[in-house]
Amino acid sequence: MAISTMQELILDQLGDIYDAEHRFLKGQQEMVQNATNQELQQGIQLHIEQTQHHIQNLEQVFSLMGQQPKGVTCEASQGLVSEAQKDMGEAGSGPIGDVLIDGAALRVEHYEIAAYTALIAGAQLMGQQQAVSLLQENLQQEQQTAQKLEQMATRLLQAAMQSTGAGAQGTRNTTAGAMGAADAMTGTTTGAATMGQSAGAQGTTGQMTGGSGLAGDDYVKVDTSKAPDILVDETQNQSTPQRQGS
Ligand code: FE
Ligand code: FE
Repeated sequence: MAISTMQELILDQLGDIYDAEHRFLKGQQEMVQNATNQELQQGIQLHIEQTQHHIQNLEQVFSLMGQQPKGVTCEASQGLVSEAQKDMGEAGSGPIGDVLIDGAALRVEHYEIAAYTALIAGAQLMGQQQAVSLLQENLQQEQQTAQKLEQMATRLLQAAMQSTGAGAQGTRNTTAGAMGAADAMTGTTTGAATMGQSAGAQGTTGQMTGGSGLAGDDYVKVDTSKAPDILVDETQNQSTPQRQGS
């Protein structure tokens, strides 16, 4: 469908999030069935109810614009839901699965936050104040949910680490991976491989010989090798990547 007027633009975005909310509703119903952590289950269950309300609010916005509710296929939400299903299939139910569900739900919330933020700006420009209020209610609940999921992430990770034994003794892969990841977050990419290797060397299983094959180690090495092409040289204090030949 051609989009050439503000009305068509808003209706397209409205149709996108209307479609996305339906997909996320089903996705969350699968998540809540697979989740084992009580806090995560309760959080998702609450947001399922909020999502049903979001759909009703969107139907009211369609009505305010003199339209019947109509979804526009949201490929991003299709992808987010299918990725969540893949994660749940691979990890199964348990502490690791809970971490993946929390992460998948957080991705969903951030998609919705972006969608509602843009939609609200458009509705404001068109002077649709009633629509703005309805959309803002949805946005606020997405933001609150994202915040809760972020706060839960650390607790779920800790539970997952304990369940795999890494929290107490440090198995080879998880300890080294965690150290590599933590180091990567500091941005000290050149030192990260060394950190990952020493973590591997200190692992309790004694199977490591120099850190090869570590998840964290490999991750950092891949990034480092690509650094000249894709990363900004921070010493030049530039805000956009500089590519060779550009
Ligand atoms: Fe929503
Ligand atoms: Fe949501």
